[in-house]
Amino acid sequence: MQNAKQQVALSSIAASAALTLAKGIVGLSTGSLAILSEAAHSLIDFAATLMTYFAVRVSDKPADAEASLRARQGRERLGAGRDGTPVPAVGRGDLGALARLRAERACGSR
Ligand SMILES: [Zn+2]
Repeated sequence: MQNAKQQVALSSIAASAALTLAKGIVGLSTGSLAILSEAAHSLIDFAATLMTYFAVRVSDKPADAEASLRARQGRERLGAGRDGTPVPAVGRGDLGALARLRAERACGSR
């Protein structure tokens, strides 16, 4: 049984597939580069609707232990500079390492 969000995502896939096909057929039959480029654009939009559908499906899954851990790590990363320490503009990997360092320090001080 699919929920309303998945139904909307599926109808979006169908609509963008129909648009892509129609533009592709017209573009090929007329030889119009403008319409062919529109078909290519619609093909990329179609890929985006596929990704949206899978994202909706994954987001509808109930949280398991691993997902909870990832969410907690994400919150730790976001909260790394919360105590007023300026967080320098670093890459995500560095930010994650900083959060882990802080978490380890917090655990060790107990
Ligand atoms: Zn577009």
